[in-house]
Amino acid sequence: MGIDRILASPMTDALPALPEVLYSRLLEDALDAVVIIDEQCRICYINGAMQALSGYAGGELLGQALNGLLPDAVASQHDDMVMAYIRSSSTSSVLGKIREFAIRHRNAEMIPIEMKALDLGMVDGVRYFGAFLLDVRERRELAAKNASLLAQLEQQALCDALTSLPNRRAYEAQAEQAMARAARSHSASGSLLAVGVADLDYFKKINDRHGHAVGDAVLRTVARILRETGRVTDVCARLGGEEFGLLFPDTTLAQASKVAERIRAAVAATPTPLPDGTALHVTMSIGVASLALGATLDAAMSEADRALYQAKHQGRNQVVAA
Ligand code: GH3
Ligand code: MG
Ligand code: MG
Repeated sequence: MGIDRILASPMTDALPALPEVLYSRLLEDALDAVVIIDEQCRICYINGAMQALSGYAGGELLGQALNGLLPDAVASQHDDMVMAYIRSSSTSSVLGKIREFAIRHRNAEMIPIEMKALDLGMVDGVRYFGAFLLDVRERRELAAKNASLLAQLEQQALCDALTSLPNRRAYEAQAEQAMARAARSHSASGSLLAVGVADLDYFKKINDRHGHAVGDAVLRTVARILRETGRVTDVCARLGGEEFGLLFPDTTLAQASKVAERIRAAVAATPTPLPDGTALHVTMSIGVASLALGATLDAAMSEADRALYQAKHQGRNQVVAA
């Protein structure tokens, strides 16, 4: 039969009223848990899904107070709220809406659920209320797992895998934030910002002589020194290869040069232990430049690069300020 035929011949007239038992079977076998309480908040009915959710067999809960299944904070007010609702016949903020909630399992575990409560009206002088309860544990677990995966991905996207330092993308993002902060506080404090580019000296030779794995170990040593020697407000990132970016918020060029000099000295003084028991010393050259308000990060980094080039040209293992 085509859809137009179905629409053209409503079947409701032709069908007899369904026997009540079908409704109760539907409720009994529904996947959602169902509870019916009377106006004294005594449990009058629970279906199979509610038995599974609560851990109680059907008969055990019949006639019991609903409060036993509710979280303490809710249980203390629930009966009063129901009474107030019945007396005032005002609309309830709970009824008819889907609410996040929890119920107490027989083993005392609080199970997060989504609940929709309904006023079922009066039957033989007694008011009844019903509720559908949906177990949301799996959904919550999935949401928590997704959130943690997302946080992990975000962290990976901003982190250099070899050294665990922030990567170039993170460096640029933090520089943008520092520039915006400096611009906001400029009129009050004349805030300044400096950047640096640090590059290991003759690093190719280290790889050539000792192998790439030793080169990697040196990069990790240098990363640790950068983390430990910079000030907490400074940002030290791996821009790529054996090149590191430095960011000195709220710092003059002279102050940044001093921190860079401390970093240079620490790198020169900290050898990387080698598998054969010896230790490998490396040095680092650093160019620093101030990042003036209104200037771009690119322009300041180019200046720092030029200062770095000069440091290399002058013999390496030194800091040059642009
Ligand atoms: P300079 O003093 O002029 O900077 O000389 P250099 O040898 O350090 O400079 P160059 O740019 O010629 O060489 C950089 C080397 O860094 C080349 C490459 O083999 C090495 N390198 C880049 N990334 C990595 C890495 O992730 N691990 C290792 N082990 N080596 C790397
Ligand atoms: Mg180099
Ligand atoms: Mg380089």
